[in-house]
Amino acid sequence: KTSLTEERINAVLKEAYEKFKNDQGGKNADYIKALAEVDSKIFGITLVTPDGKVYEIGDTKAEVSIQSISKVFTAALVIQEKGEKFLQEKIGVNATGLAFNSIIAIELHDGSASNPFVNAGAIQSTSWVEAKDSKERWAKIYGNMDAFAGKKLNFNEVVYDSEVNDNKRNQAISKILDAYGRMGSDPLEATTVYTKQCSVNISSHDLGVMGATFANHGVNPVTGKKVIDSKYVSKILAVMATAGLYDNAGDWLYLTGTPAKSGVGGGILAVVPGKMGIGVVSPPLDKFGNSVRGQKAAAYIIDKLGINPLAQ
Ligand code: GLN
Repeated sequence: KTSLTEERINAVLKEAYEKFKNDQGGKNADYIKALAEVDSKIFGITLVTPDGKVYEIGDTKAEVSIQSISKVFTAALVIQEKGEKFLQEKIGVNATGLAFNSIIAIELHDGSASNPFVNAGAIQSTSWVEAKDSKERWAKIYGNMDAFAGKKLNFNEVVYDSEVNDNKRNQAISKILDAYGRMGSDPLEATTVYTKQCSVNISSHDLGVMGATFANHGVNPVTGKKVIDSKYVSKILAVMATAGLYDNAGDWLYLTGTPAKSGVGGGILAVVPGKMGIGVVSPPLDKFGNSVRGQKAAAYIIDKLGINPLAQ
């Protein structure tokens, strides 16, 4: 058994950073125009343990939009409010085998989004957050992400403006789901709130704390606040393992044994239950929409520290 001493963690973190800092693989997302303009060189890695200790290196304060990683926290809110059967039956917990913004995936699965981490399931989750109106729904979703991060997260107006004027595909997805009777609120309203949640800024530091909250059974190790019931943590992590890295989720699980979630802003959040949250930010993406250096750094750290959850 590897012992996770502070020296060992710091040494492996430094190795990972040095090994991948000059990796030029991948390319910023450009289907959302503002994302193409983000500095591709940003590279930050943060590890946070359940006792709240932070290990970090690189541009750990540099902020990018959270994008699809937000889907994890909204799904957490839905499972908390509506229970595990609702998430499984109304939204789904299976992989689509198709791209994150696939429309055909909905048709192929009888109108089901398949899971809350593709756009369809995420827009659906957003629509099911209990609220009297759109304003309250957004405030709850934003506040919930703040609670996981243990601080007030910034909102990226530039990304939001760029995306909200160019989200016809997501609007179409929401309308199809509505036609199948699967939306909890007006489809276009839900799409707008979903676009807002994707435009919240995070750093690798924030992602590390958010991941550590899951690794610590739902209690934020920095603030000491319980933000999700421990009985639901394993459910959210299961869906992350199945669909967190979209089409590449199988390869990722095979390599690391670790639930993770990516976003097209370049963030990756990985959770090693009971051991640590890993947050990496590096904007260039592979063809699936997952951060290239983010995956490499996280996989390296998990391997070298011997913390693959499936190998314990
Ligand atoms: N906001 C992005 C979208 O709707 C999120 C996609 C992602 O990060 N995979 O396309």
